[in-house]
Amino acid sequence: MSVDRRSVWPYVDGEPAQFLYSRYAHPTGVEAERKLAALERAPDGQALLFSSGSAAAFALLFALLEPGKSVALAEGCYFGTGVMMREELGRWGLETVEFDQTGPPPEAVDLVWLEAPSNPFLTMPDLEAAARHPARVVVDSTAATPVYLRPLEHGADFVLHSATKYLTGHSDALAGAVVSRDAADHQRLWQFRQRTGPACAADVAALVTRGLKTLRVRIERQTETTAVLAERLGTHPAVANVRYPGFGGLLSFDVAGDPLPVERALRLIKNATSLGGVESTMESRHRWEGDRVPVGLLRLSVGLEDADELWADLEQALAATI
Ligand code: PLP
Repeated sequence: MSVDRRSVWPYVDGEPAQFLYSRYAHPTGVEAERKLAALERAPDGQALLFSSGSAAAFALLFALLEPGKSVALAEGCYFGTGVMMREELGRWGLETVEFDQTGPPPEAVDLVWLEAPSNPFLTMPDLEAAARHPARVVVDSTAATPVYLRPLEHGADFVLHSATKYLTGHSDALAGAVVSRDAADHQRLWQFRQRTGPACAADVAALVTRGLKTLRVRIERQTETTAVLAERLGTHPAVANVRYPGFGGLLSFDVAGDPLPVERALRLIKNATSLGGVESTMESRHRWEGDRVPVGLLRLSVGLEDADELWADLEQALAATI
């Protein structure tokens, strides 16, 4: 894995060349961006890495919109996205309207923001209905990954990833990405990143490239295991309401009452936030999201451990509720 950590490259014959200063672009980042664009079936190289998924979302909103504009945001999607839109960009004049993404977006909005599948409610957006909307469409495809969904093929204008999750896959890197359908949008986002600075460091970009090499085998194995666990959870007496879209490594389910004893009883599964790593993690989302989610909702991100060992851990932890 070669990493070019330079922040400065010499001019060639007195002229800036492709790489000159790493806030503009760096070779390790461009390599990862080309690979991700190819996986998303985007026009050549039209992907950009950012310092986190949140930085990617922030750049997209700030570069595309201006005060007085509105976003239709999928209900039940990643909590932090809504907080950013309402609490931070709201102060700058952005209006956020939430809607049920399984149906068409509301009419008079300037941007449609979907999540496939939503975290932690695991609903899938109606991409065809969104594509008919006149506004541009962003799909946060973090949990689907390009292995299961390529939103540009369904009419989306942008694909967003928290690369912190499945793309890097080992819970050791913070990164984000935006893949654009349109060359002018891609150029504008690059300009915004260059002017405002939320670039991805070269070492992290190299971890994105490494992660993409194993993405398919990881997510396919995670899907197999998650399907087994979703089925078993569905028949467990302490569990109600298993949410799993049938692919990917993320599910959520509800226990009656306080989920804290279940979290504390976990042995193999880490009681931790985040998702998409090779090690399974589980946590109560009520802790972070309050009444937006049921008190007993637990979100499980399934890693690469053995399915029966994971089930044994879940069974013994769920005994804490009965
Ligand atoms: N989108 C989704 C679906 C997420 O789950 C997250 C983080 O949990 C983000 C975006 C934000 O990404 P990051 O934590 O890399 O800033």
